[in-house]
Amino acid sequence: MKILVLNCGSSSLKYQLFNMDDESVMAKGLVEKIGLDGSVLIHQPEGMDKVRIETAIPDHGTAIELVVAALLDAKHGVIKDMKEIDAVGHRTIHGGTTFAESCVIDDKVMAEMERLTELAPLHNPPSILGIRACEQKIPGVKMVGVFDTAFHQTMPPSSYLYGLPYELYEKYQLRRFGFHGTSHRFVSARAIEIMGNPAHSKIITCHLGNGSSMAAVKDGKTIDTSMGFTPLEGVIMGTRSGDLDPAIIPFLMDKEGLDIAGVNALLNKKSGLLGISGVSSDMRDIENAAKEGNQRAQMALDVFKKTVLRYIGAYAAELDGVDMIVFTAGIGENGISTRKEICDNLHYLGVEFDEAANDCRGKEVEISKPGSKVRVFVIPTNEELMIARDTMALAGK
Ligand code: AMP
Repeated sequence: MKILVLNCGSSSLKYQLFNMDDESVMAKGLVEKIGLDGSVLIHQPEGMDKVRIETAIPDHGTAIELVVAALLDAKHGVIKDMKEIDAVGHRTIHGGTTFAESCVIDDKVMAEMERLTELAPLHNPPSILGIRACEQKIPGVKMVGVFDTAFHQTMPPSSYLYGLPYELYEKYQLRRFGFHGTSHRFVSARAIEIMGNPAHSKIITCHLGNGSSMAAVKDGKTIDTSMGFTPLEGVIMGTRSGDLDPAIIPFLMDKEGLDIAGVNALLNKKSGLLGISGVSSDMRDIENAAKEGNQRAQMALDVFKKTVLRYIGAYAAELDGVDMIVFTAGIGENGISTRKEICDNLHYLGVEFDEAANDCRGKEVEISKPGSKVRVFVIPTNEELMIARDTMALAGK
């Protein structure tokens, strides 16, 4: 079975074509600047050089057409007929309380996704555009939606309720949803497999990338996670503030003369590691600046580390112990010094850190010593593969 996985943003589209016989990637690529000047398709067939196709790409429909053409191309294509694409898996972001699992996309699902755009005005519309474009350009193909929020739907009210009047929760669904669920599900499932599939397990997953989130996973189910009603809450991120005192918002609106759009932009685009360091939102740049003696860059690193430690402590308490801590995503998989500095503060939990093993990037490695009470792993995430697996399971029926 061949499955095309799509991740649509407002002006971008990422894709991977999987051969599910061995879960290998046949081709992958990226369409950038959809609807803007300088739009381009970068296509990479497995084992071959990247191909760059610069052409006008006014909308998502044209983008899908180009992706299909690239997959079929005589020179750099990997399939002979569009019908070889058995199903398409879409990364659909916000599933609200409706979607606790992935599902086959039909008219009812589309209507519900449209309704949920109120909760995710930036993220859901591009997914909807991508689905509509596929309906047109790959007619008749089965499609599956894999929601970022779904895995966290197992949280109890004690984790998802905010300290706000209950009527507001009822009226607006003002609650914690959590995001990065597909990644937390992928790495926690792998962690449980590594542990030998015990009936009971307590895992803390740290998805640390440009966007970062943490999850407490008990017996394979999320019981708490750090992102909330939106992906702004929790750990400090590249440009997002993460947790802050909510009273800061009206204070800033007053003092800086900001309106709603202004304060949203400040908290989402100008804060976090970028805001503190003044250098960059990218961890590598910040680490380099800190090494050269930039104090603000060092403070950004310290705040990042501390927010992660705060969540590990909180989740260890909520789980009443920890079997395994998992690091994943860009910083989690590659940030050798970040992992070391975090683990150096986890003696109290029983972590015996293995500095030599930690000297690795982007591969699955145990970075705690044999016999460590709490095991610590780097497990590379693979959201696309998770989407392909769900798509195969549902579309194959
Ligand atoms: P992601 O959003 O998962 O792609 O992660 C992006 C983040 O990973 C950026 O902040 C990068 O700086 C960070 N990252 C990637 N490679 C490294 C590395 N070698 N060391 C530290 N951080 C890294």
